[in-house]
Amino acid sequence: MTAPLSVGVLRAEPGTKTRGTVPADLGTLTVDIPLTLVNGAHPGPRVLITAGVHGGEFTGVDAATRLAALLEPGEVHGQVIVCPVANPPAVYRGRLGVSPLDGVNINRVFPGDPDGSPTERLAAWLFTNLVDGADAYVDLHSGGIDEVLTDFVGYRLTGDPALDAKTADLAGALGIEDVIFGMNADGGNSHAAVARRGVPAILVETGQLGERDADTARRLVEGLYGVLGRLGVLDTKPQDDTAICAWVWAAGITAEATGLWYPEFTVGDDVTEGQVIGRVIDPADGQEHKVHTPATGRIFYGMRGLTVAPGTELAAIAAPAPQDPGDH
Ligand SMILES: [Zn+2]
Repeated sequence: MTAPLSVGVLRAEPGTKTRGTVPADLGTLTVDIPLTLVNGAHPGPRVLITAGVHGGEFTGVDAATRLAALLEPGEVHGQVIVCPVANPPAVYRGRLGVSPLDGVNINRVFPGDPDGSPTERLAAWLFTNLVDGADAYVDLHSGGIDEVLTDFVGYRLTGDPALDAKTADLAGALGIEDVIFGMNADGGNSHAAVARRGVPAILVETGQLGERDADTARRLVEGLYGVLGRLGVLDTKPQDDTAICAWVWAAGITAEATGLWYPEFTVGDDVTEGQVIGRVIDPADGQEHKVHTPATGRIFYGMRGLTVAPGTELAAIAAPAPQDPGDH
């Protein structure tokens, strides 16, 4: 027998599914976090799936909601917590990476601070209520409304070879060819902060430009079935492994000037260190700031919006991994 699964006031007995919301107190206001708790009829691991950590990233929200509706507790070995809108203010009001409550990008402040700003408190709430007790974590993102992106799966190396191998195995189960890892688990990304706790955690990036596309969402649901099958949560037939291209993050390029951004690349382009990848033009005096890439590699996402300010992410570049750290 499995145990009851509860988050706040929501509770699912073994062999049942419960949908609803749980209030999160953010100090100056309370937000309702939508959750589906799938408590399997059979024992197994607990898996947490989040989407809507950022606003304007619709594919993951769509896919998580579809998955929550599809999962049958009688077929589930273990427990699945689906949170399709982890950051309601950013998703419903801002549709941006930063929260309209405080201007904070929640995916830079995990595991959060229960005494901090509203967004820091929300990050802490998500960790305390959802991450604690999870055996695996999948975080669904997309290119935002002004962001071009080619699909990839991301994860962080932790220095623990067994954990890293398990995480690489999960990353390979999505059916997405490009897998990009970071060399350490530092920083405030949710998947990094979860990895630091010794739990396999992957970031999935599908779709771009705030587009909504049912086929992309359905493909992502299939990929999530692949992950749940790999974890033993579902008896899905093991699919043929997608041939994985392994990459390592090489550079993130941010704007140094305020102005109008004219990129000279499309995502998926291979670029060489020193190459000009775009220009920022000051609309007041016409002054041009060339933007060079500091690294050789492939551009996986980039800014498509016209107006940028210092710190705006313009492009992210990964280089072919020297070897696949999770291989065998
Ligand atoms: Zn995102």
